[in-house]
Amino acid sequence: MQLLEERIKSDGIVKPGDVLKVDNFLNHQIDVELLCEMGREFRRLFDGCQIDKILTIEASGIAVACLAAQYFGVPVVFAKKTRSINIEGEVYATRIESFTHKRVYDVIVSKKYIQPGEHMLIIDDFLANGCAVRGLIDLIRSAGAVVEGVGIAIEKGQMPGGRLLREDGIRVESLAIIESMNDETGEIVFRH
Ligand code: 5GP
Repeated sequence: MQLLEERIKSDGIVKPGDVLKVDNFLNHQIDVELLCEMGREFRRLFDGCQIDKILTIEASGIAVACLAAQYFGVPVVFAKKTRSINIEGEVYATRIESFTHKRVYDVIVSKKYIQPGEHMLIIDDFLANGCAVRGLIDLIRSAGAVVEGVGIAIEKGQMPGGRLLREDGIRVESLAIIESMNDETGEIVFRH
């Protein structure tokens, strides 16, 4: 998506360790207009698919998911990161290793909000190794619901997450795919 690529080029900051900072439009300050356009694009990409709900993970996925959800006309459920699972029996739980914080979180979603047979679209801000998306897939499948697809704002194509998910037959649509980035020169190359 050209608009997003242009914004990443102008405002993205490449950090060591293959981390891209996009704090001024996605991860700290939010450009609502841009995220609405991204939501519209997700809607176009998943046109014709049955989508009953969107599932994301706190915190950064929530804005992307909510602004997309208005074009699908469905609710957003966000999985919560928690230190301990204290409401056993009432939640689906999984473990996710955080790419940015290098720690493992227990992640939960209430059984009330994913029903068996519902078709779920996963949306998140970044895809790197795929741990977050795989955790969300795990929650959906625990509920007996269906993974309709995965929508990602920025996929880091130099990392294996997207390729492995697609090899597993999951439909992954990313609005921008990074081919490479250089933390010394700041150069970012996109895959088309
Ligand atoms: P994965 O689980 O696919 O390895 O990483 C995806 C998660 O880590 C996303 O939910 C996102 O919040 C975070 N993440 C991964 N890479 C980056 C990055 O380069 N920049 C930012 N801001 N977040 C990232």
